[in-house]
Amino acid sequence: MNIINYFRRFCTKGAVITYLSLSLTCSGLFASAAYAGPADDASLGTQTHAGPGQEAAGSQQPAVVNSFYNQVLSDPIVKPVDKYSYGQMEQDIYLLTQRYPGKITLNVLGQSLDGRNIYDVVIGNPQASKKILIQGAIHAREYIVVPLMMQQMEYLLAGYDSGTYQNQPLSSILNQVAIHFVPMANPDGVTLSQMGENGINSEELRQTIRTAYALDTAEGRTSLDYDQYLTRWKSNARGVDLNYNFDAKWADINPELTHASSNGYKGTSPLSEPEAQALAGLIQSNSFSAIISYHAMGRVLYWDTEGNQKAAESYDMALNASAVTGYSVLSSKGVGGLKDWAQKTLAIPGITIEVGRSVCPVAFSEYQAIWDQNKAIPALFANYVLTH
Ligand SMILES: [Zn+2]
Repeated sequence: MNIINYFRRFCTKGAVITYLSLSLTCSGLFASAAYAGPADDASLGTQTHAGPGQEAAGSQQPAVVNSFYNQVLSDPIVKPVDKYSYGQMEQDIYLLTQRYPGKITLNVLGQSLDGRNIYDVVIGNPQASKKILIQGAIHAREYIVVPLMMQQMEYLLAGYDSGTYQNQPLSSILNQVAIHFVPMANPDGVTLSQMGENGINSEELRQTIRTAYALDTAEGRTSLDYDQYLTRWKSNARGVDLNYNFDAKWADINPELTHASSNGYKGTSPLSEPEAQALAGLIQSNSFSAIISYHAMGRVLYWDTEGNQKAAESYDMALNASAVTGYSVLSSKGVGGLKDWAQKTLAIPGITIEVGRSVCPVAFSEYQAIWDQNKAIPALFANYVLTH
């Protein structure tokens, strides 16, 4: 837990503190950022039950009337928008800690190369014996998964006291399972894809990005203009594809690509990048029962890798995810990704969920469908690890 570091950094963020005094922000945050056991204050005054017409169209899951994620929040903190940014996410995380004290625990896993925090937001009892990890946006241009995970968090929090999942009190599930969310594993890359080069603070990193473009263009790896190239960026701010920066057949990944690039460059060694180190450290210091990795696009589910120590369990997870999302289960084996490393090296079951239909960045017009397909995923897998 690195709350002091978080506290210091959060209080230097001008964008975050504009709506509250510095002292209120810091003391309030500090007071709220720890789990205080099952809360007894009912927070569902902010919710109304959804009518039958508000059931998700196309949902393949049987309607559960009082299922918390089918309720409509009257005053939501998280308001998904196109290019939902790092700053917006940071502000919303802070506001969630203020509204739901005792139900949310905030950790900072580390900092990105360009100085942004990598947040780990824990919903439920952080001391629970069962833990799951839901992480996403390790690939920059796939940032549509960020508001998705933020909304998943807010619904868990809003439904914590009175919500149910599959006829069980959500509070009972969340008292037994800690759900770790890392909603933006690659904050610099997301910012670069959304805002272009001006989103990056460091001149040294901006120069690395320009060099990557020059080399990718010279080698025929891209024919896009510079702005489009940055929009389609997947890597971190020094051109390393973070999902190829884990120790799972690392040596075999794209050996011909030896320089910074918008995608596909694995770095100088496994875990050479601070963002990958942050995720690996979290996973190595917690005994996660399952890991869910959000990516885009394709509306498909991956569950396998070479040397998978948890193949049967991961396949069963994919079938369960498919039942609520309607996404196809694919058997191709991943190489080098975080999921693959966890399955192969640490024997943790996991799946990759690829949301969206359109080319990345996925069009925001798809967001509502993505939400409807994925809103139940956290409760599904929290309940799953309790019963498997
Ligand atoms: Zn991806």
